[in-house]
Amino acid sequence: MTVPMDLLNPAIVDIGPEGLPLSCSASGPQLGLDQPEDKFDGPLAIQLELSQLEGRISVTGTLEGTAIRQCVRCLLEYADPLLVSIYAEYLPQASVAPKSAPAEQGRRNARRGAQPVEPEEEADEEADEEDELYWYQGDHLDLTPMLREQVILAAPMQPICREDCLGLCPQCGQNLNERRCGCPPAQAPSPFRVLRGRGPKSENA
Ligand SMILES: [Zn+2]
Ligand SMILES: [Zn+2]
Repeated sequence: MTVPMDLLNPAIVDIGPEGLPLSCSASGPQLGLDQPEDKFDGPLAIQLELSQLEGRISVTGTLEGTAIRQCVRCLLEYADPLLVSIYAEYLPQASVAPKSAPAEQGRRNARRGAQPVEPEEEADEEADEEDELYWYQGDHLDLTPMLREQVILAAPMQPICREDCLGLCPQCGQNLNERRCGCPPAQAPSPFRVLRGRGPKSENA
């Protein structure tokens, strides 16, 4: 059994321009995914390729696993295959302490003389929209915050167990995927009724 935390914290000196492959599996909590909604079936398989050029480290690869999500319609949990493409760039954090304490790890502006670096949401001109820019400090690269963020970003806003999930009966709560209930059709206001009420009576007369 590998120790993912060591593998996910490689020494900068081990990352050369020729690339450093890195593969391991980690549990959700090992990546800091420990909220109630962070549920996984089995470990997360992580395969990365790291390379460094003059301090700039690029990380590409995939994170694969199975997330357990709760359907917003029927409220049941379902297994959601997870395949996250990783593409991250790390720049060295300047050794000078930033003026404001970094609230968010790894996403701060580096104060590096000539090379302009945009800190926040400003577009990086060299990077695709897919790029994620991070900062590192010291002699190791901690990949866990980035991986955690990528898993969170990959989660759907409105998880649905299947496209045609029928959800729950609003009246009795029966899961309509399992069977129909005996409730009368919901009394949603019909658009026709509204039109009839407001419109001229001539058509129906
Ligand atoms: Zn559902
Ligand atoms: Zn019902």
